[in-house]
Parts: sequence; structure tokens; C-alpha cells
Amino acid sequence: MTGSIPQQFIDDLLGRIDIVDVINRRVPLKRAGSEYKACCPFHDEKTPSFTVSQSKQFYYCFGCGSHGTAIGFLMDYDGLSFPDSIEELASSIGVEVPRDQHTHQGPDNRPIYAVLEQAAQFFSQALRTHPQAKQAVDYLQNRGLSGELASRFRIGYAPPGWDNLLQELGNQENGRQRLRDAGLISEPDGKCYDRFRNRIMFPILDSRGRVVGFGGRVIDDSDNPKYLNSPETPVFHKGKELYGLYDARKSNRQLNSLLVVEGYMDVIALSQFEVTNAVATLGTATTDEHLEKLFPAAPEVIFCFDGDRAGKEAAWKALVTSLPHLRDGRQAGFMFLPDGEDPDSLIRAIGTEAFTQSMGNAESASDFLFNHLMAEVDMRTLDGRARLVNLAKPYLESLPAGVFRNMMTQHLESLAGTRQLNMPSADTGRPAPRKKHIQPGTMRPIHRAISLLLQHPELSKQPDLPEAWQQTKDKGSEILLTLLETLWENPHLNTAALVEHWQEPDIRRHLGNLATMELDLFDDQEDQFRGALEKLSRHAQESELAGIRNTLRPSDLTEEEKARLRALYNTKR
Ligand SMILES: [Zn+2]
Repeated sequence: MTGSIPQQFIDDLLGRIDIVDVINRRVPLKRAGSEYKACCPFHDEKTPSFTVSQSKQFYYCFGCGSHGTAIGFLMDYDGLSFPDSIEELASSIGVEVPRDQHTHQGPDNRPIYAVLEQAAQFFSQALRTHPQAKQAVDYLQNRGLSGELASRFRIGYAPPGWDNLLQELGNQENGRQRLRDAGLISEPDGKCYDRFRNRIMFPILDSRGRVVGFGGRVIDDSDNPKYLNSPETPVFHKGKELYGLYDARKSNRQLNSLLVVEGYMDVIALSQFEVTNAVATLGTATTDEHLEKLFPAAPEVIFCFDGDRAGKEAAWKALVTSLPHLRDGRQAGFMFLPDGEDPDSLIRAIGTEAFTQSMGNAESASDFLFNHLMAEVDMRTLDGRARLVNLAKPYLESLPAGVFRNMMTQHLESLAGTRQLNMPSADTGRPAPRKKHIQPGTMRPIHRAISLLLQHPELSKQPDLPEAWQQTKDKGSEILLTLLETLWENPHLNTAALVEHWQEPDIRRHLGNLATMELDLFDDQEDQFRGALEKLSRHAQESELAGIRNTLRPSDLTEEEKARLRALYNTKR
């Protein structure tokens, strides 16, 4: 949804940015003829089938069928929301996103981001200069943290006392209100004081690198609670954010995997040992929202848990949450730590190489699933194996359709010693996406017309296009007409902007497909387009004719209808 960003701005933006630049900054592209290519960031492949068209401002992959505009790319690749993608693109060319005053507008969170940023600067300054910061600095040094790392993660210090931050940023009532909105002050009984006191402060950044909240750790382990997070605020939702994701993206040109650990200090300590792909959930179990951020960022997600019972249980929950996200090309792994170790202590003990190796040896989702379930049944008996099938089925059914699901089903069949499991056909999902090379005449005229218009928006400028098809009130004709009207009003829109005009995700996806359809163009595009519209018009007239003939006897027709009928007969001849 565009929310409160004016459509006009999005159109202009898509006309000004270059999708080749946007993608090339994240996935290096090679020129191939009039297009650009790379190995697809959304599925695993050895030969490049990911194609970016500069003229259409559109990308598409012959291998997995993913496609979209620069906006869609940022949403999938950077895991951004629609408005955030717009913000990101706008800031890449140095323009401000205007907010439409007329439409219903969400709250403006910019003051909250601003005060969070100021607070982060205040804390990091305090770590360097506050007279009582020595204890905090000692603690960090004892944990082996370099100053360089502390500044990279923007680690700070909330000094002891009730109102350090309040004095700094909350002297005026509006400043105080911002601190309140940002979750930085507590007001238990009308008294107002700093939420974070005498703690080491870890700023939590969102996917765009903005501070959205803080985690604070006590310096003296006898204080409570050991970790304190920002409360839920308009910009901070604990179950959605991942500590370290922004840095992991920034530190790695291409992320092949992400390691999910428990705490901030694990992320930072691993980074110290050059394992720069770790992220931490903020004291919550893995959620769907986490996975929606993790998987677009890397094709493999490795969960790291304690090897004890509680760790295994947490890992099982993470597996169950992950299954629906495991479409082809994605993998989940499960790494269990030796007794009494955390990632920080383990990497110190065994070193980077051995640690990376044990990440590579993580148990696959498939092994973890089947081993866990097989432990619950007696595999030596027929009955036990039948039970395994029943236990496993709902989990396999939660997998998206695709090769991985088929393989899991086959694996279950071989474990259980059965042939046909009667699983709902995996083909019911996305059809195997191959580049659709359409023979002339096999494509429906409405699809052909839309496809041509999307790929060559300038076709809308032709004079005297056939119009009779416009009476057809089916969805396709309505879409075609809207596309034409949009282009008549905004003749400079490119393919990407045209597709982004659509709010409904289903139609946008469909249009995306038509925009990337490879058309066999024997005639020139103008003739083809006109031809498709003529065909549509003929169909429209024929069905109108049939309609009048079937429903009415001539005696029931009005004079107007009789005249229309004669006109239709004449056009047929
Ligand atoms: Zn692909």
C-alpha cells in the first residue's frame, strides 16, 4: 500500500532512479546485450538467470520466477516495508519523501527516531567521558572487546542517577514527551526518571540502520534485571527486530548464511572473531516476522541453541516456525552448543575456524525433524513406522510446495517403508516458473495487449486505437483500460511505475508476469497491439450480439436495440 506517499511521487521516483544501480549495489551485475545479469539472489544457482532490464526498470528471474521493480527488490532483498523501500530509494538520490496531507496518514514517527538517535549519541559519549564509566569500560575490556568494535556497534553507557538523559534531552515538555514516546523514561507513580540507569547500552538498529530501541545490560551481575530492553513503542517491536542484522548486511557483500544467537554480547563477540553474520533475537522465541527478515537477507539461517533440554525445545519451536518459510533455495540449520558454553565462550575456546566448521556441520531441518520424531516412535515395528507418518505429515504439509517438500515426502516414505503417502500434490503451489516463451497466437488477446502495453508504454500514444472492447466488463478489460488511462494522463511512466500503480498485490504480481513475458514479435509492436485490440473488440461485439439474440425475441427489442443489432451485424460482415 502506498499509505500516505503520493502516487505522483512514486511515479517520478521510479522515473529518476535506475534499477541497475540499485541492484548492482547489492548484487553485482554483468552486462549481457541490452540487459544485465547475475546469479539470482533469491534462489541457489550456478549460471545466471537473474536479469535486470534497464529500459523496463524491472528485474526477473527465469529460474525461480521472482520479479519486480526497484521497490519490490528492496522489499525482498533488504526486507524493507513498502514505505521504507520508497524512503531508501528517495534518499539514494537525495530527495525527501513528501507526505500526502489529504489521505489518511499514519503518525509521524520522525521525532521518535530523532530522539533515539540523540540518546544513542548521549550514551556513547558517556562511555568515553563520564567519570563513572570506568566500571563499564573495564567490563567490556574484560570481555575482550576492542574500542573499534564498541564504536562499530555504537555501545554506550547510561550513567548512574535518575535523570541524566532527562536533563540532557527532556528539559522542555515536548522533549520529555519524545523521550516518553521513545520508551526512554519511566513514570511509575507520576515521578519521571530515566529508564536505563547504570547500564551498558546496546542500540538496536532497524533494517535501515536507524536506532529503534536499546538493550541495557547491568555492569554488576548482582543487579536486576540483567538485561532490560526498550518497551514496545511505535517504532520498536521486540518480536520483529533482530539485533545485528544491519551490521551483518553491511559487513558482508553477500550473505550466504545468518547465525541466530541469543544475546547482543554473542553477536559482538563473534564479530570480534570475524564471524560477522550473527544476529540475536531480543529475548523472544523466533517469530514469523523474524523469518521474513532473515530469509530475504540470506538463503540459509542457522539457529544456535544450548545443547540442553531447554535448548532442544526452543530449537524445535524455531524449526516448526521456519517450515512454512522453507521454499526452494532456502535452508535452515540447527547448531547445538556443548554443555555450559555460549557462542562467545566457545569461539574463544576453539577459534574462528573450528567455530565456522561447526556452523557448517549444523543439523539440517530435515535431519532435525525426522530424528526428533523418530525418537518418539519405535521404528522397529510396523505400528511405529505408521505413527511416524502420522506425526510427520502435518509438518511436511506446512512446507511450501516445491522440490524440497517433495524430497522430504520421499524421505519420509523411505523411512516408513511405504510407497505413496497421498500427500496433497506439491504442484498445487506456484507452477514451476520457466521463462514463458509464447508462440504467436497462443496467448489470449487480453494478456497479449496488456503485456505489450506494459513492455512498451509508448503504444498508448497511437491514434485511433480500437475501442469496442472497452464495453466488456471483465477484469482483464478493466485492467487494460485503467492502464491506458493511466498512460494517457502520465505519458512518461515506465514499466516499473505502471506496475507499481496497482495496490492489490495479486494484480501487481500478475502484471509483473505479463511485463516479463517474452513475446515473439514477428510484426512490429504497434501492429501487434492494434491487432490484439481489434480481436478483443470483435469478441466483445460477438458476445453482445449473442446476448441480445439469446435473451430477446425481435418483438421485445426497443428501437434502439434493433438499431444496435443491425450495426453489430454489419460490423461482423
Ligand atoms: Zn531466481
